[in-house]
Amino acid sequence: EKQAENDMRIAVFAGDGIGPEVTEQAVRVLEKLDLPGLELVEGDVGGAAYYKHGHPLPAETLDVARSAQAILFGAVGDFSCDHLERHLRPEQAILGLRKELGLFANLRPAQVFAGLEDLTTLRPEVASKIDLLIVRELNGDVYFGEKGMRRLEDGRRQGWDMMSYAEDEVRRIAQVGFKAAMGRSKKLCSVDKANVLETSQLWRDVVIEVAKEYPEVELTHMYVDNAAMQLVKNPGQFDVIVTGNLFGDILSDQASMCVGSIGLLASASLAEGTYGLYEPIHGSAPDIAGKGLANPMATILSAAMLLRHSLGLEAAAARIEAAVAKTLADGIKGGDLGGTAGTREIGDAVLERL
Ligand code: ATP
Ligand code: MG
Repeated sequence: EKQAENDMRIAVFAGDGIGPEVTEQAVRVLEKLDLPGLELVEGDVGGAAYYKHGHPLPAETLDVARSAQAILFGAVGDFSCDHLERHLRPEQAILGLRKELGLFANLRPAQVFAGLEDLTTLRPEVASKIDLLIVRELNGDVYFGEKGMRRLEDGRRQGWDMMSYAEDEVRRIAQVGFKAAMGRSKKLCSVDKANVLETSQLWRDVVIEVAKEYPEVELTHMYVDNAAMQLVKNPGQFDVIVTGNLFGDILSDQASMCVGSIGLLASASLAEGTYGLYEPIHGSAPDIAGKGLANPMATILSAAMLLRHSLGLEAAAARIEAAVAKTLADGIKGGDLGGTAGTREIGDAVLERL
């Protein structure tokens, strides 16, 4: 565990919709742990920031982010901002943070908690074995390659997006994948389409090269079409999956829906080193905002990831995860899981079990 005298500063950006409600519960959990040197600093993002400062990601907020070791992020999104120019919309806050802070690796764990096997779309005996982590590259691939649209001579339109990766871009995401595997059951599956794509051939070569630094990790390779099939057929075979931006976008949504509810899914976006932004994968959920109905577990689990990856506090992270698992096993469930517990009630239940 990290030394107590190092001060640990976490930026808390609650944002819009249910963001403040769910973040409040995660903050209660962090405070309950009584971690020496822990300091929480708030900042405005999204629509909330636009109305207060005229921008969804004000300079003050960026300063707070840069002064901290990590960010705990709620959600952004506000219909009343729909008429604004794109750069002023709430969603720009998260895109801006990604860019400004160099967040290039997206981590999404998916696991089926005991007692929730029946809520997934898979057979309970298949679902119960899910405990995996998808590591997705965020800054490269087809989203950021050269793109264009033109009119051909015969009048048809043609569009294109270039898929591209440079060696160093693959190397750093592979490193994140191997490190994550070292902290879990030391199995890494690299997903590509090396039978048809040059980028994937490069990807595979680099991953094999990086593997030499991690002799303890068992590395396998899988084509993305097969991976999509295996995730539904036998998800229990996976521990850590590492893949590019496009394949990761699709596979991480697919894996998350095997879990039963959006209210349980945490995520991390990491920069080089230990810096990271942690947030639930759900959005601002305007339909239930302000009603005290949102499940705060995804945000609480995001806080656990923050302690693990950015502050090196593995034991504290595991304590939070165990308390959430126990709460669910005891039958305390939010509306998203067919239960009746409200936001604060779930927060209380997790606190008791810590
Ligand atoms: P955004 O544009 O901010 O992403 P969205 O409309 O995509 O918002 P989400 O926030 O992703 O909506 O939510 C999708 C659905 O899941 C909504 O019906 C919402 O009420 C529900 N939901 C999302 N998060 C939670 C949660 N933590 N607890 C309970 N229900 C949730
Ligand atoms: Mg959404």
